[in-house]
Amino acid sequence: MSVHPAQNFDVIVVGGGHAGIEACHAAARMGSRTLLITLDRNKIGLMPCNPAVGGVGKGHIVYEISALGGLMPKLCTSTYLQARMLNTRKGPAVQGLRLQIDKHAYSALSKQLLEKLTNLTIYEDMVAEIITSVIDGKLTISGVKTSDGTLFHAPCVVITTGTFLNGRIHIGETNFTAGRRDEKASLDLPQFLRDVGLTLGRLKTGTPPRLLRESLDFSKMEYQEPDQLDFLFEFSSHKSNSTRACYITHTTETTHQIIRDNLHRSAMYNGNISGIGPRYCPSIEDKIGRFPDKTSHHVFVEPESATCNEIYPNGLSTSLPADVQLAYIQSIPGFEKAVIAKNGYAIEYDFVLPNQLHHSLQAKVVEGLFLAGQINGTTGYEEAAGQGIMAGINAHLKAHGQEPFVLDRCESYIGIMIDDLVTMGVDEPYRMFTSRAERRLILRQDNSFARLMPKAYALGLIDEELYAAFVAEQNMIESALETLRKTKKHTELLALFDTIMDKTELRAMLGADLSDRALLTIQAELQYGPYLEREHQEVARRLQYKDLKIPATFVYTDLPGLSKELQQKLNKFKPATIADAALIRGMTPAAISLLIFKIKHGSRKTVGH
Ligand code: FAD
Repeated sequence: MSVHPAQNFDVIVVGGGHAGIEACHAAARMGSRTLLITLDRNKIGLMPCNPAVGGVGKGHIVYEISALGGLMPKLCTSTYLQARMLNTRKGPAVQGLRLQIDKHAYSALSKQLLEKLTNLTIYEDMVAEIITSVIDGKLTISGVKTSDGTLFHAPCVVITTGTFLNGRIHIGETNFTAGRRDEKASLDLPQFLRDVGLTLGRLKTGTPPRLLRESLDFSKMEYQEPDQLDFLFEFSSHKSNSTRACYITHTTETTHQIIRDNLHRSAMYNGNISGIGPRYCPSIEDKIGRFPDKTSHHVFVEPESATCNEIYPNGLSTSLPADVQLAYIQSIPGFEKAVIAKNGYAIEYDFVLPNQLHHSLQAKVVEGLFLAGQINGTTGYEEAAGQGIMAGINAHLKAHGQEPFVLDRCESYIGIMIDDLVTMGVDEPYRMFTSRAERRLILRQDNSFARLMPKAYALGLIDEELYAAFVAEQNMIESALETLRKTKKHTELLALFDTIMDKTELRAMLGADLSDRALLTIQAELQYGPYLEREHQEVARRLQYKDLKIPATFVYTDLPGLSKELQQKLNKFKPATIADAALIRGMTPAAISLLIFKIKHGSRKTVGH
């Protein structure tokens, strides 16, 4: 069949959610003729749940997207309602920026920026089929077909369909097919994914009811103080200006009793849901079931937008019937007269087991087919966007015959996430935590630009002007560090940062107009100095020995210095190389060093010798 040239592209992205936005933005910025096919252009960048971006771990991903030239940080700066830096009492490595977002403004701006993007065409429809052919003996993607029968061709396709694959919404005893609230599910695509040889699983997530602002009594709640910050997720400084308040209230014993009395009516407990839910973001009925002794749980009361009067009660996700939702909501202080604007619901959906992907996010069984976002078993806008940008970059590179771009887990949280997904797979929705990083001290928010921007610049994702500003800042940081190290003793430096309240004074002392983020880098470099050096050495060592083979007959039992638990795990998984051993949960840098030593010196018995 002859194809109209307008229907040929380098990269097709299916789905305009948080993964799809970054994928099509990156591919188009790098010069690919890119097509975004999505169900409804007015729902590009929609936040179906929590109207917030960032937090500890998730915020690290957003900084890395920023350093890679992605859109999410820019969208956040223009549409946030409140800014907070979490964990400020802890060191710079585990702090997390969290922004409350105006979800309507965010979605509108996403659409507007994508519509203006050179090289990008947006088409509204449901992709119903993927088209493949066999090239050089390999199953290869050649395009997609939409439900209106239109064919589009490209050597690379990125699928980012979120919760839409065979999506089914549950509210109490009622359930129906849907991709999200009031949206159609994608019912044909899952079978095409199975037909090309991919295995799919089933997961679930949920969302709380939305409440009308004017029906709430905020005087009974605790006001949540915003932070005054001089930087957000973008490289450039920005004085934060929080325009909407957030509050905290809590569930009561009555709330818990109402939920307990109606548990049999929750879709999660009446056997209607088989998918596995996010352990770290449980529904209220799950929390009450799991922690029977707790008489109260926090509820964070967050605005959804500056232009609509709906409030998001964070912590109350549910699949209970509508009448029970109203009863338990009204048992919460400040919510006594609450009016529910939209009911909460749970949604089950198909996902693709991500261990069927390469580190580039390309499917192992189909050349040119990339997957990113919730379809890979993750949960969260940030996790989706982090995969989206990597899949978009790699689809562009593949379409132009270039090698994939892969981030190592020693250099980024995005690298950790993708490595976890493709090597270990998921058995519950995957969410980012700083505890997933082996090298937390070197993977901080403040140094994301130093870690990744040079790579993004080399790929053509960063403007000259921004890159020049980045280089200038790096130079200032280095000379400030040199000055401080030369003029002050280590203990004096630490004391200086303990009392670093007056940043103006510090800037004057350094003679440099450093941003608060750059000052954090200086603080971290000084505070963690010796540990950072050790981490860098360990990383270098791991990279040097990552391909070192572990003999199949190697005996781990009774290896001095190796815990019984690690001995058991190593015996069970029998890793082939040091890199494989490092992936085993609970494996410590010290244990890896010990293995390298024993293998290199051949001082360990092997079975049969
Ligand atoms: P999405 O943002 O879902 O975007 C998918 C896009 O694909 C949509 O634009 C859709 O139109 C398009 N699409 C789908 N099928 C097709 C097709 N066949 N053809 C063309 N276009 C298609 N995350 C959290 O971190 N915390 C939470 O508490 C949380 N709760 C959630 C509750 C609910 C009810 C839902 C639905 C999601 C929740 N999430 C939560 C998850 C969060 O919304 C997702 O992780 C994130 O949006 C995933 O981004 P994505 O780009 O993968 O998919």
